[in-house]
This record gives sequence, C-alpha cells and structure tokens, in this order.
Amino acid sequence: MRTIYDLNLQETEEMLKAKGQKAYRAKQLYSWLYRKHASSFSEMSDLPASLLEQLQEEYCIMPLEEADRQTARDGTAKYLFRMQDGSFVETVLMHFHFGESLCVSSQVGCNMGCTFCASGLLKKQRDLTAGEITAQVMYVQKELDKEEKRINNIVIMGTGEPFDNYDNVMNFCRIINSDHGLAIGARHITISTCGIVPKIREFAAGHYQYNLAISLHAPNDELRRKLMPVDRAYPLDELMAALKDYSEDNHRRLTFEYILLHGVNDSDEDGKQLADLIRGMNAYVNLIPYNSVDEHGYQSATDRQALHFYDVLMKNGVKATLRSRHGEDIDAACGQLRAKHERNKQPQ
Ligand code: SAH
Repeated sequence: MRTIYDLNLQETEEMLKAKGQKAYRAKQLYSWLYRKHASSFSEMSDLPASLLEQLQEEYCIMPLEEADRQTARDGTAKYLFRMQDGSFVETVLMHFHFGESLCVSSQVGCNMGCTFCASGLLKKQRDLTAGEITAQVMYVQKELDKEEKRINNIVIMGTGEPFDNYDNVMNFCRIINSDHGLAIGARHITISTCGIVPKIREFAAGHYQYNLAISLHAPNDELRRKLMPVDRAYPLDELMAALKDYSEDNHRRLTFEYILLHGVNDSDEDGKQLADLIRGMNAYVNLIPYNSVDEHGYQSATDRQALHFYDVLMKNGVKATLRSRHGEDIDAACGQLRAKHERNKQPQ
C-alpha cells in the first residue's frame, strides 16, 4: 500500500481536490503528519470522517517497521527497517553539538559498485519512493519526540545513489523542506553523489538550495576508476567541469568527500594532486575515516596519517576538515547492517 508520505503538498492538494475537498485540507493533513506526527488517520480530528475513511483505504502512514537497532557508545544509532516488500533499509542517527543529524538511504542496495563500500555488496533491488525516504525521518523523529529532540539535519548518504533515483529524492527533499511540513532548512539537507554528471547538471539547473557533496576518493582517473566504476562513465574532467558550473551559477560551496584508505589514496602525492584539482573552487574536502568492511580488505589511514594528509591539503591551498569517527563499535558503515541481515537470511 502506498504511503501518504509519498505526496508533496501540491500532490496532496490535487489528491484531496479529486475527492471533492477544499485545498486548505491539504495543509491540515500536512500538519497532522509533520507537526503532530500522527500515526493514524483516525486521530486527525478536524478532517471529515468520510475523508479519513477513504484515506485509510488507499494509504498507509508508516510503510516500514523496525527490524533491528544498534546503538554505539557515542549515541550513534543505526536503525534497520523492513519495508512492506520485505526488503531492508538502513538509517543512521548521529548526535552533534549542532543537533540531531539523520543519514537516510535512497535505494534498496546500490549499483554503483564502489569497491570499498558495503552497500554494493548487494546489487540494487529497487528505488525507494519519496515517502519511503520520508518515513525513515518520521520514524526516527517519533522516537526522538519522547526525548523532545528534533532532527534538524539530513544527509542522503545511506545506501543507494541519490542521483540514480533523482525524482524521488528531489521530491523527498521538497517534502521535508516544506514550511507546512517538517520545515528542515534546505541548507540543512545534503545530497551526496558519486558523480553522475548529467544529474549534477540537472540539479544545477534547478537552482536548489540543498547542499551538494561529491564522493571523490581519488585525485586522478587511474586510481578513481579502480575504486569507483562510475569514473569510467563520467571521468574527472567532465565531473569537475559540471561541478564548477554548478558552484559558480549557484554561488554554492561544494563538499568533496575523501575516504582515506591506507596505502591506496593517502600519499603526499595524492594530496598534492587533490589540491591541484580543487584549488580555486568554492569547495572544501571532508576527510573521512574508513569504516572497515570485512569483505573488501581496505584499511583506514591512521589518525596521524589523516592529520598529515590534512596538512598537505591546507599547505597546498585547499580547505579541509577531518570528520570525527561515529559509531565505530557498531556496523555503521553504509550497508553493513543490512548486508549482515541479508547474509543471515541465506541458508548456511
Ligand atoms: N552514493 C552516494 C551516497 C551514499 S555513500 C555517494 O556515493 O556519495 C555516502 C558516503 O559514504 C560516500 O562518500 C561513500 O563513498 C562513503 N562510504 C562508503 N562506504 C564507506 C565506508 N566503509 N567507510 C566510510 N565511508 C564510506
């Protein structure tokens, strides 16, 4: 059954109009869903009973259920959700000094095939709908309601490639960004892509205020190709040209994500090449410690190496940040918890 979270405000208006309702009912419904965090249609007391009955027949509210949860010592919580079709999806809640940040998945599995990533261990089964992504936020928000906390930052960095599910992801952003909904500020929503150039150009043309992060992970095509097959389709010169256009047209700062893999992409030479690639752009590099994935055999650079790499970038004129580790003692890397559950489902 379709979830009501699939509909953005305009679609909600159209749906209600088709049922003979006035447009203002859409805002009422939205308010129940996203302000009062209603779990059932029956509690929406200012909507006509006949309408609620119709809605109940056609839509569910929560299209997922919690199948597992791991909480790390630092409070990072990883949720494993079971969708209506039995597939599993992961969502990670992180506590920062600036608030609660949620990392959502955009697809069931992923086809990008990055060689270091656990998500790609299982090929893409399907795209998630806008409502299924929204539901990840709403489920965790309802849990946080108990502690009177609010999710105020969203990163689309869970399993899946958001720009391989472009329309649903953009609709999800619209839904959670809506003033009548959760009203999460556009600048508090980050879309992370492995670099699908035509979609970056489409995104640029839309002049959205959401943040864009690029998973770079290598400073040249030769190495990037080994780590990320997407580089064959969209090599670095095309990617960087699209990003420069985006950043200049939209006056937006870009984030480049760079996982430091020991002995693979963390040499001084790699750092210098990376600086040459990025210098002059309105951008910074977010250096990310690697969460080891048993199946892949890569190792994270040590903290010392990471700090050194950071220095190389800064000395060569590129701003960088070192991301602190979160949820190290749980399976917090993209796709890890899900991969484990899928494995456990298989007969031994
Ligand atoms: N497909 C999108 C979003 C999902 S991945 C993208 O590629 O950006 C989110 C980020 O986590 C990416 O930068 C990805 O490369 C990184 N990542 C994947 N596996 C990781 C791991 N084991 N440890 C640390 N980061 C990882």
